[in-house]
Formats: sequence, structure tokens, C-alpha cells
Amino acid sequence: MRQFLAANWKMHLYPIEALHLTTALHKGWERHGWTLPAVLFPPAIYLRELVALLSNSRLQVGAQNGYPGEFGAFTGEVSMAQLAHIGVKWVLIGHSERRQHFGETGPLLRRKLQDAQQRGLSVIYCVGETLAQREAGQTFDVLQVQLEEVLSDGAIAWDRFVLAYEPVWAIGTGVHATPQQAQEVHAFLRAQLARLGAPAEGICVVYGGSLKPSAALELFSQPDVDGGLVGGASLEASSFLQIAQALLQARS
Ligand code: PEP
Repeated sequence: MRQFLAANWKMHLYPIEALHLTTALHKGWERHGWTLPAVLFPPAIYLRELVALLSNSRLQVGAQNGYPGEFGAFTGEVSMAQLAHIGVKWVLIGHSERRQHFGETGPLLRRKLQDAQQRGLSVIYCVGETLAQREAGQTFDVLQVQLEEVLSDGAIAWDRFVLAYEPVWAIGTGVHATPQQAQEVHAFLRAQLARLGAPAEGICVVYGGSLKPSAALELFSQPDVDGGLVGGASLEASSFLQIAQALLQARS
């Protein structure tokens, strides 16, 4: 069954808060006996600790960023090889904040994705249009380019790949896509994945952008919305657990 949840903590939380949140989520998963796949993406300084804390957990650990290669003169970067070496299983690629604030574009994202997978990491690749692009009727064109420039002609390990639709206008704004808007785009993205040679029916396409517990059930009830990538609402155990519950209910 297609279902997948991820928590993007961004540049938030002090160590004690990260520890408490991780413990509460682990306990929540254990208490309910959930097998729902979920990945926590903490700030890089907490990765090792989370890998150790969650070694016997259903929850996995991912990095919010990684640089292609093993070692090199790239001040401030952490390599995909280093991430994989310490037990990190996932990496986020193409998040709109990386595109917007750090100038990351297709060619680099493509290298990141290929290198991450070659080193055994699984990838969440994020795509999404800005408000101006949506209003100009360019949503599908923008998404198609974002998919093609990173996924075409590459040897992608599709069994270690999740696609996240994150409309830029919804991230951190409190305004989420309607279930109809999300379904329309997710169905388009799945069709594009098939066109690019992916086993599209088996790939999780998750939604991200101001996803809150109150909206989760309706969004996850759409046939092509297979879960979520959650920012703000993942910083509180109770709201992330409610979102997980909604996903399980929608898919039961
Ligand atoms: C995100 O950053 O991936 C995200 C979806 O953020 P938020 O849920 O806070 O909009």
C-alpha cells in the first residue's frame, strides 16, 4: 500500500527539544503498533543522535541536505557518503527553500539525487510551483520541467524514491492546497513519472504545505495523495501523531 509520512524540522529545536520530540514520536509509534513508514528530518547536528535513538524503531532518519561525493574542499557541506556512513537512510532534495534561498537548480539537484542513491540513500524529491506561476496557469509546465531536469535519462532506483508535491505558496503560509487541487496535481505527477519510465503506481507521491491535523484526513482521502511531508506541524508530537492517524484512517 502507498503510504508515507515525513517530518521536516527545518532549522528548529534545541537539543533537549529534539530529544523529547524524537522520544515522544517513537513512543507514539510503539504504543499504536504502527508500521506506517515515517522519516524524521532533523537539523544535521542531531542526525547521529537520532540514528542511535531510533535504531530499534519504525521511524527512520533523513538529512535535510547533502552534497554529492565523499570528501572535498566544500566548506560547510556534509557529503552524501558521510550521511550514509553514520546510518542516515534518507535525504531531501529539491526543497523550495533550497531552490529559493540557496540557488539550487536542476543540474545540481540531479547530481545530488544520483549520488545519494548510488551511496544507498533513499530520496524525497520535492517539486512545486510559486503563487505567480499558478496564477499564470503555469503549474503543470513548471512541475514537468522540475521532474524532467532531474529524473529523465537517469538510472533512478525507484524503490528508494518518494516524490513530494509542495506548492511554494502553501509552505509555511497557513494556506494548504485544497484536496481537489492536490489530487489534480498528484495525478498529473504520477502520469509524468510513468512517462519517465517509473513504476508510477507503486511510488508514493506525498503532499506538503501547511499540512495540519484538521486538513489531513480529507487530503489523504484523495486517491493519489499517499501521505505528507510536514513542516511546522511536525514540531509537536501530538499534531504529527494526529496526522499519522489520519493517514492510517484514510488508507484503512
Ligand atoms: C516543508 O517545509 O516541507 C513544509 C511542508 O512546511 P510547512 O508544513 O510548515 O508548510
